[in-house]
Amino acid sequence: MSEEFLPFSKPSISRAAIDEVVACLESGWITTGPRVAKFTENLKEYLNAPYVLPLASATAGLHLALLALDLQPGDEVITTPLTFAATLNTIILAGGKPVLIDIDPATLNMDLNQLEDAITAKTRVILPVHFAGLPVDLDVLYNIADIHGLRVIEDAAHAIGTEYKGKKIGSFGDTQVFSFHPNKNMTTGEGGCVVTQDEELAKKISLLRFHGMDREAWNRFGKNGNQHYEIVVPGFKYNMMDIQAALGLHQLVELDSFIERRTELAKRYQEALSDWLQWSLPQNPAFEHKHAWHLYTPLLNELPAKMHRDEFMQKMKEKNIGTGLHYRAAHLYPYYREKFGFMPGDFPHAESAGERIVSLPLFPSMTDAEHDRVLDVMYSIFDSQTKIDGFEAQLTEESFVI
Ligand SMILES: *Cc1c(COP(=O)(O)O)cnc(C)c1O
Repeated sequence: MSEEFLPFSKPSISRAAIDEVVACLESGWITTGPRVAKFTENLKEYLNAPYVLPLASATAGLHLALLALDLQPGDEVITTPLTFAATLNTIILAGGKPVLIDIDPATLNMDLNQLEDAITAKTRVILPVHFAGLPVDLDVLYNIADIHGLRVIEDAAHAIGTEYKGKKIGSFGDTQVFSFHPNKNMTTGEGGCVVTQDEELAKKISLLRFHGMDREAWNRFGKNGNQHYEIVVPGFKYNMMDIQAALGLHQLVELDSFIERRTELAKRYQEALSDWLQWSLPQNPAFEHKHAWHLYTPLLNELPAKMHRDEFMQKMKEKNIGTGLHYRAAHLYPYYREKFGFMPGDFPHAESAGERIVSLPLFPSMTDAEHDRVLDVMYSIFDSQTKIDGFEAQLTEESFVI
């Protein structure tokens, strides 16, 4: 048991990226400056997007995108319970009320069949999450948004590089928020960005991300000298630094190759696990798409596995293999339950997934040997059961109901 701990995620930082960070540090300009400007342009080109605003995090991006929509008390934002806390927190911090709809158990994305029933006179925004890098069916979603006059903010934290019907997430639609946290598909350390087709929204976010300072407002009064600015709104301190952008410039160049390797590894898992009774595997929707494979998240079938997900994760850890938990159903956390009256049983598919889901190790520098090691350990954990003769025959339909 001397093998090194294998984390579930690990960033790949090239020598060129490290050199760029060092060059930035030596340049004398380390906060928002020329490297953020270049990173912005490169993201625009990669995403084919008109407005890109790098920020300190995706959480900052969700917060500002929602604030910029000027939500009024009681305004509702429809989202999924199978997401990170930041999705719900930022809705609340921007003055909105999170309204949840259950997930589709096949894709783990928001179940769009339930969307129209959740829309009320108070609904302002639909906030889907492209779970694990698998796109939500955006034609369907935007069609509903258009009919009801709703804004759409896509939590695309998992989805840089994802494509929907041949188009990159971020290249069309309303507004998207990407994350560059170290576990995500590309990283700037901490960081994220908002991408939008809406010039007005971009302007508001641009003001809000840096103290509400407007240099153009000063210029409008006909004076020159860009030392001066006006404060036109009480803003935040959510800007990205050049040190972060230095990393991002190089990560972006490598992003497609990172996704290629993630895809190979995910396929390897799918093939290796396809006939294991212990797992229900991620399923693909019928529409054309490119999955970014930010996460590989099978669901543990507790009956055949004879253990709960938490026990499986513990056993993997004992064998020096890290796993992740993305996510327990958000509505069951105490704050949201108390504040919005959510109850166990409200969103059964998300709750079931939240008790069974595991993120297996997946990162671009993972070798085939490391992948084999993960599978070997998984075999050893379930070994005693898979050998039981006739075990399969004992399973009922119920074992697989999500
Ligand atoms: C990571 C993540 C966020 C937050 O991203 P940060 O850059 O860490 O703020 C938001 N939503 C989802 C779904 C995420 O996975």
